[in-house]
Amino acid sequence: MSTLFSLRNVSRHYTRGGQTTRALDDITLDIDEGTQLGVVGESGSGKTTLIRLLTGLDAPTGGEVRFRGDPVNRRAGLGADVQVVFQDPRSSLDPRMTVRRTVTEPLRSHRPRQPSTNRHARFDEVMRQVGLDASMGERYPHEFSGGQRQRIAIARALAPHPTVLIGDEPVSALDVSVRAQILNVFTDLVRDRDLSLLMVSHDLGVIRHVCERVVVLRKGRIVEDGATAEVFENPQHPYTAELVAAMPRLPV
Ligand code: ADP
Ligand code: MG
Repeated sequence: MSTLFSLRNVSRHYTRGGQTTRALDDITLDIDEGTQLGVVGESGSGKTTLIRLLTGLDAPTGGEVRFRGDPVNRRAGLGADVQVVFQDPRSSLDPRMTVRRTVTEPLRSHRPRQPSTNRHARFDEVMRQVGLDASMGERYPHEFSGGQRQRIAIARALAPHPTVLIGDEPVSALDVSVRAQILNVFTDLVRDRDLSLLMVSHDLGVIRHVCERVVVLRKGRIVEDGATAEVFENPQHPYTAELVAAMPRLPV
């Protein structure tokens, strides 16, 4: 199995007024293609910073991040290969854009020469994959519920055929009643497909539902890394044990 991301001694420190925040501190991690990896840690543990480094939105202050062996270049980014679904669908959906426009926009930017008929076919396909009716295409984000808006954001992320889909707390802003439904969208997507998943959450229950491997982050450091079932059964680090004990139960 080939390695998608490799991080070697990666740090991201912020220094302001003589104070240093170690958002990430000496992270070494390989992420294999085709896996579903969960990253869990409380607020401020460095999860979003990690995603920003993986996607080239930010650069490490130490160490190196590689994607398929090549250093992640902040300017070039990763193009269509890596797509992120954010916590709050309101911030990722433009209220003035129809659903069709929203979902197909990454195709316009990554594949500008593609004929529009291909874009429409892809639109129908990804809408089906996230459980939405393609006839909703001419409507606007405000006409949808939070769960539906997150489905639209997932469809948009899928449209350009990414190699890896990243979720940054993608269900945290949703009502508890729809969380499990949206998590099922993710599990259905990665099942039997050539899609890798990196799911970031402060909630271990979310990771257990979706991921085979889990990395536990605490104050910018990895304190545990293992098969999800094993980490649940037998957490090695006291912090992980605390997270397991505090886990809210998902209505699944
Ligand atoms: P998480 O996503 O796990 O909640 P973040 O990666 O957002 O954590 O943040 C990790 C730490 O880095 C926090 O202490 C946060 O305050 C700090 N941090 C993040 N971004 C910046 C920034 N631009 N400037 C200064 N500190 C930052
Ligand atoms: Mg975050």
